[in-house]
Amino acid sequence: MNDTIMVTGGAGFVGSHLCERLVQAQHDVLCVDNLYTGSRHNVQGLIGSRHFEFMRHDVTFPLYVEVGQIYNLACPASPVHYQHDPVQTTKTSVHGAINMLGLAKRVKARILQASTSEVYGDPAVHPQTEGYWGNVNPIGLRACYDEGKRCAETLFFDYHRQHGLDIKVVRIFNTYGPRMHPNDGRVVSNFIVQALRGEPITIFGDGQQTRSFCYVDDLVEALMRMMTTERGFTGPVNVGNPGEYTMLELAENVLALTRSRSALVFKPLPPDDPRQRRPDIELARQALGWQPTVTLRDGLVPTIEHFRRVLAA
Ligand code: NAD
Ligand code: UDP
Ligand code: UDP
Repeated sequence: MNDTIMVTGGAGFVGSHLCERLVQAQHDVLCVDNLYTGSRHNVQGLIGSRHFEFMRHDVTFPLYVEVGQIYNLACPASPVHYQHDPVQTTKTSVHGAINMLGLAKRVKARILQASTSEVYGDPAVHPQTEGYWGNVNPIGLRACYDEGKRCAETLFFDYHRQHGLDIKVVRIFNTYGPRMHPNDGRVVSNFIVQALRGEPITIFGDGQQTRSFCYVDDLVEALMRMMTTERGFTGPVNVGNPGEYTMLELAENVLALTRSRSALVFKPLPPDDPRQRRPDIELARQALGWQPTVTLRDGLVPTIEHFRRVLAA
């Protein structure tokens, strides 16, 4: 069997950290990315390593390579980016899943899907367990992402049942850390960039909506543990940090750690913005022996340092 590990979306924020960890562990990594939101810069430190290969490719098109494991992360994750070309977002999740599952089927590779807490939509159950089916608006502005990811999960489980594929599905909750793009548009990068530039912090709505923020190193650890669990364990499994914060609390933390005097400005809440989100991670604890180790403040420090360097460059 070929032991190359393929990471689609490997030049993105999460994917580049995952590639780095896999190369450090001496695995041969094939990073497949069309550079839609990712960049070569994210994997610059790996180019030249004999364990690393970059391939520019769009997963909505078929791909014939020989690999032993697939992490399927390709998909823009920030609402600003995934709503920019919503049809392409759905295609990436759905056609991308079909192609990667077809590839996994042909080469008999284990395949892991980066799913999302967005499958729960604006959740009526709190905190969210894997058994909750979600509350998603199928025709709203977020649907291209939410429904695309839900359909990808459906495809994973049907390839598993119909073709016996060895699948793993992880539902990732909001994750942050170094290498997020300054224009990524997600809340952590927006607040930090605004604070460092002394610009107003943009709070959408009243800022009372909640999210749970996981540091990227904790997420990567969970993805790698999931990939190596026994064959029968498919998930879906929630991975996130159960610490829950309002957007106003997040802004206060960012202001304190950057020592910024930025003012808060309130902007309209985007449509279908979930009111609350917090993972129940009991399954991850039991099945992966995993729990997050980095608190929000401890994770914000290196993230702020990253943005200081990027903005100074
Ligand atoms: P990101 O936008 O930084 O990375 C996504 C990567 O996928 C980029 O490098 C992009 O160029 C690539 N890509 C997009 N469309 C592609 C296509 N058609 N073909 C090939 N490559 C393509 O986002 P991220 O935060 O690193 O997210 C990675 C994965 O994790 C995504 O699947 C996302 O849905 C999932 N996820 C992330 C979070 C989070 O908070 N970061 C939360 C839930 C789920
Ligand atoms: N596919 C791919 N690489 C492979 C094998 C398949 O990209 O190595 C794509 C192929 O284009 C196909 C899809 O995966 O459309 C689904 O493959 P599957 O074998 O499930 O279905 P079929 O080939 O019958 O459509
Ligand atoms: N948000 C905000 N200001 C910003 C960007 C986002 O208040 O500049 C809010 C957004 O409305 C949402 C939360 O922060 O309630 C998290 O948004 P993000 O886009 O990071 O992720 P998602 O909504 O997908 O969880």
